[in-house]
Amino acid sequence: IGFVEKYDAEVGEAMNKELVRQRRNLELIASENIVSPAVMAAMGSVLTNKYAEGYSGKRYYGGCECVDIVEDIAIERAKKLFGAKFANVQAHSGAQANTAVYFALLNPGDTVLGMNLAHGGHLTHGSPVNLSGKYFNFIPYGLGDDERIDYDKVEALAKEHQPKLIVAGASAYPRVIDFARLSEIAKSVGAYLMVDMAHIAGLVAAKQHPSPVGYADVVTSTTHKTLRGPRGGLILTNDEELAKKINKAVFPGIQGGPLMHVIAAKAVCFGEALKPEFTEYQKQVVANAQALANGLVKRGFNLVSGGTDNHLMLVDLRPFDITGKELEHRLDEVYITVNKNAIPNDPQSPFVTSGVRIGTPAVTSRGLGVTEMEQIAEFIYLAAKDFDANADAIRAGVGEICKQYPLYE
Ligand code: PLP
Repeated sequence: IGFVEKYDAEVGEAMNKELVRQRRNLELIASENIVSPAVMAAMGSVLTNKYAEGYSGKRYYGGCECVDIVEDIAIERAKKLFGAKFANVQAHSGAQANTAVYFALLNPGDTVLGMNLAHGGHLTHGSPVNLSGKYFNFIPYGLGDDERIDYDKVEALAKEHQPKLIVAGASAYPRVIDFARLSEIAKSVGAYLMVDMAHIAGLVAAKQHPSPVGYADVVTSTTHKTLRGPRGGLILTNDEELAKKINKAVFPGIQGGPLMHVIAAKAVCFGEALKPEFTEYQKQVVANAQALANGLVKRGFNLVSGGTDNHLMLVDLRPFDITGKELEHRLDEVYITVNKNAIPNDPQSPFVTSGVRIGTPAVTSRGLGVTEMEQIAEFIYLAAKDFDANADAIRAGVGEICKQYPLYE
């Protein structure tokens, strides 16, 4: 950043402010993380200069012999990490990975089951404002009365609508997903099963959540959430024919040149995830989520489904008579970052909401443990209960923790 600041003061200054913000704030957005200096260095490297349309050994450009090595390493490590036979590491993002799979498996108008956005699904799982919802006939499924996925309903919808594809995976679901059951349902109606494990990929890699590989025909992911890599997408399958279709769908189907600097960073990230320390990290992510969830419940908050099995929780704020928007704003003021999030059957609009989503991947990367989770639960409680009386004390407490766990020193 120092270099950019000297070279281009305007951009450098904004970047530097972002570094200051990240150092000063406790990052509790469930989809964010803090990458290693090696992952970051790979992204900011000369590989950004290279065009490499095509795949390793079959490129449309000369001079690809070095980037071929990088992409081959990324693919081999991804396969090893998740125990899959085929990997595509070129998708620019999670949304691109999902779109590529739809392009590979579906025709416009085909019927698909996907988890309702309002119940924790992702935009790309059939939201009417997304390409997925506009081009395909998505039928939403969601949570039952126990605020867990209603698998019986998924089965009933599958029988009724005979989808070509069932999409599983979520952006705001705190419980283990039963991939075996979903696979049975998909098989019973002759549908493909795609699992988008973007949120839980790091937990899956470290065996802290059951793996969808082996149950799903195709698994998609982002690489930048719990997996702690660069922003990007990943697609896995065990089926050679599907792998060929998926490669064609990514390029030339929906993308041009791959981002070779990002693929290098993915390779570094997969290498890190194959190390034993990564398993320890993911165990701590889950332990921290448990501690934070318990701390919040103890102080009178309701959690959707009553708790969490993974890295995130959805807090229902109605007992405190405060909206998600207001609590997000208050926490911003005291340097704690969360996002407002709709809860199931939310009476508020999606811009206001009755909940916040809280996750532990980033603060765990920073080194925080269960003691700090208890402190954070108290900060959130005090912010919700009487902000004006407590704001200064919370800000001071956050400052202490951030000083104790420095970032990129
Ligand atoms: N899938 C899920 C489940 C997600 O939560 C997200 C991002 O939040 C995505 C896909 C999209 O990823 P990206 O933002 O890289 O397009």
